[in-house]
Amino acid sequence: MYADIFLRGAIFPTVPGADALAIRCGRIQAVGKALELQGLIGPDTEVLDLEGKAVLPGFIDAHTHFVRVGLERTFYVDLSGTKSLEEAMDRLREAARDRAGEWVMARGWDESKWPQKRPLKRADLDRVVPRQPCCAVRVDGHLVVCNTLALDRCPYPEGRLVDRDAGHLREDAAWAFLDAVPLDRTALVEAIAAASRRAAELGVTAVAEMSGKPEYIRAYQQALKEGKLRTRVFLYLPLELADHAVELGLEHGFGGELLRIVGVKAFADGSIGARTAALSSPYRDANDTGTLLLEAEDLAGIWRRLSHMGLQLAVHAIGDRAIGEVLRAARLAGISEHGRHRIEHLELPTEKQLEEMASLGLVASMQPNFVVNWSGPGGLYHERLGPERDSAIDPHSLVLKYGIPLAFGSDGMPMDPLYGFLGAVAPPHEVQRIPPEEAIRAYTAGAAYALFAERELGELAPGKRADLVILSDNPLKAPLQRLRVEMTILGGALIFRR
Ligand SMILES: [Zn+2]
Repeated sequence: MYADIFLRGAIFPTVPGADALAIRCGRIQAVGKALELQGLIGPDTEVLDLEGKAVLPGFIDAHTHFVRVGLERTFYVDLSGTKSLEEAMDRLREAARDRAGEWVMARGWDESKWPQKRPLKRADLDRVVPRQPCCAVRVDGHLVVCNTLALDRCPYPEGRLVDRDAGHLREDAAWAFLDAVPLDRTALVEAIAAASRRAAELGVTAVAEMSGKPEYIRAYQQALKEGKLRTRVFLYLPLELADHAVELGLEHGFGGELLRIVGVKAFADGSIGARTAALSSPYRDANDTGTLLLEAEDLAGIWRRLSHMGLQLAVHAIGDRAIGEVLRAARLAGISEHGRHRIEHLELPTEKQLEEMASLGLVASMQPNFVVNWSGPGGLYHERLGPERDSAIDPHSLVLKYGIPLAFGSDGMPMDPLYGFLGAVAPPHEVQRIPPEEAIRAYTAGAAYALFAERELGELAPGKRADLVILSDNPLKAPLQRLRVEMTILGGALIFRR
């Protein structure tokens, strides 16, 4: 049986000694020495000479918001690069004319680049977009400014996250608001197509969509039918739908090759940026310990039902108090390691909590790009938590030390594994540092395990799906900043080439 595609002259950092790989019918046929495999080259085999480039399993982003990533690239008016507040307002006025009667959503403004040095406010937006709801996300994604019509649709009360006068929504309030904006199906399908193209450029062949709400699921199905989805998407349903999923008899893995359901997502707390992550001692810059969003007793009930049905639960828990509550729920629910239930972010666990996670078989779903974005001297975490907790945050090395399965993702901030690797391989603090082999593992085999997909994905071995990323150089040796994605292959099809 000849190969469809034969890669040779490559480095395989995860398969020592190999320099060639054969693909047949969308799967890996063989991987090893070119000399021994060359009999697989037939008259119709496409042979790619990779000249020392590195081949890895396609990256799997175990936690992202794929639709959101796509919307940022398609639907939003781009305000990045505006040189003044007036220029940003002009762009919004123009967009409002083009989209009469519809929402105007924008992103990328940065007042530090403007002579005025002040953020956009509600009154500014009301002036240029008076008759349609309009909102604009700041460049960092942590602040959204709304006009009056948009603000009327914000369910959050006035408080630290909502300043109605300025029209400012921060952090969790901002993200919940953006998620709730009603978008038509065409916009969502186009967003999915754009996110899928972007994923291919980044070497990402599979993602977990953590916002699997019904409108999005419908759009995913349409994108799939129209051939616009070229990324494997693993869906997590919102907690409100957990009982419906149970009633339907869904189990993890329901779906097909490109689109399937894995489980349910819940929130135990918020974020450090918004000071809503639940901590055991106060933030450094506020007399506050954050907010617990659920109680162990409530979570345990639904968790037990989900486990019983073979659905996975992924719980967002950042602060040590939230993580403690999730562990208490896990004990109450009597979960087993077969469920591979996940804690999302897991930023400030204690060692005792990690020990307990290991014994419960929980998976750590972490985002090393958070370290790059916010940890280290002068960073947001340092400011919010002080030096001691900043130097203990995102302890990838301890997670491995306790034998907890580790999966990496991006949360879409940005959805770029090579950027994220920096936060695990060259981080500001020792506890965050893991060897590059382990970082790659967490973004491939580790993520596959977290999605119950390790029999198909995450490794370069015969029989696995031919999802590959080809990098310019060996990630175990070359400086990460210089690495580039050269090609991405999904199920044996070339979906990106630089
Ligand atoms: Zn998320």
